[in-house]
Amino acid sequence: MRIGIRVAAAALALPALLAFQAPVRQSTLFDSAQLLEDLRVLSADDMQGRQAGTAGGEKARAYVVERFKASGVQPFGESYVHPFTFTSGRGDAAAERKAANVIGFVPGTANAGRYIVVTAHYDHVGVRNGVVFNGADDNASGTAALFALASHFSKTRPGNSLLFAALDAEESGMRGARAFLAKPPVDPATLVLNVNMDMLGRDPDDKLFVVGTHQQPFLRPYIETIAASAPVKLIPGHDNPAEKGVEDWTRSSDHAAFCQAKIPCLYFGVEDFGNHHKATDDYETMTHDFYVRAVETLVAAVKVFDAKLDEIAKAR
Ligand SMILES: [Zn+2]
Repeated sequence: MRIGIRVAAAALALPALLAFQAPVRQSTLFDSAQLLEDLRVLSADDMQGRQAGTAGGEKARAYVVERFKASGVQPFGESYVHPFTFTSGRGDAAAERKAANVIGFVPGTANAGRYIVVTAHYDHVGVRNGVVFNGADDNASGTAALFALASHFSKTRPGNSLLFAALDAEESGMRGARAFLAKPPVDPATLVLNVNMDMLGRDPDDKLFVVGTHQQPFLRPYIETIAASAPVKLIPGHDNPAEKGVEDWTRSSDHAAFCQAKIPCLYFGVEDFGNHHKATDDYETMTHDFYVRAVETLVAAVKVFDAKLDEIAKAR
C-alpha cells in the first residue's frame, strides 16, 4: 500500500530512469543477481498482480515458500503457510477471501527465544480492467529483500532469532499483519522489534526513509549509527504529523499493526513516485543498483538492532 503525495521533481526524473540502468553492484552480503531475479519473478505478469485470495496470490505464495526454504528459513511446526480468511466488500458484494502469511525464522546463537520480526507484504492489487498491476516496488521489492536477509543471516547467524514474515492482504487493510498478531507463532512478549519493508526499490536520488523515530525516540541513536555508514541516504522522517507538506507514513503499512500492539516498529520505504499503484510499477522501472544498496542497508540495520536488542527491549 502507501497512499502518497507524488513528488513533482521525482516524477519528472522518471523517464531518465526508464532509459538508463546503472550497473548493479555485486553485494558482499548476499547474491544481488538472485535478489533481482526474485524481484523479476514476483513482479512478472504471470503472478497476476498477487492479489490476496486469487490464483496469482497463491502462485506468489508458493514462490515465497520455495525461497524461504532455499534461504535457510525454518518453519514453526509443519508448514511455513499460516492461512486466514477475511471478508472484503460490503453488503451484497461482501465475500470471504482465503489468504495466508508465510512465516519462519532463523534461530539466534545467544538469545534464541527473543525475536526481531522482519515483515514485508507479498500481495498487491491484482488485475484491473484487464491490466495486470505488477507491484514491483509495492511490494515485490520488500518480499525479495526478506530472502536476501534470510540467506545472509542463516550464514552469518544473529545473536537473537529473526522471525521472517511475508504477509498477505496488506492491500486489503493490513489483514495479514492483524492475523499474525491475533495468532502469533511465538509468545508476543518475545517480539522485541518489528522491521517492516514496503517499497525499497525506486529512487533516483538514493533516498531511503525510516519511519518511526519521531514517536519512538529511543530508536533514533541506532538509526544514526546505521545511517553513518549506509550505502544509501537513510533519512528518518515521514512520521511527524506536524511537519508541513510531508506525508505521515506511521500508519501506511503493516508496521502500524505492530506499533498498535505495543511492539516497537520501524518502517523502511522510498518516496512515492508516479508508478505507485499504477500498472507501470514494473521491474524495468525500478532503480536496480539503488535497490541492492537499500537491501544492504537493511542487512546492516538488522545487525545493529540485533547487537543492541538488550537495550531496545529495556527501553520499549
Ligand atoms: Zn505496499
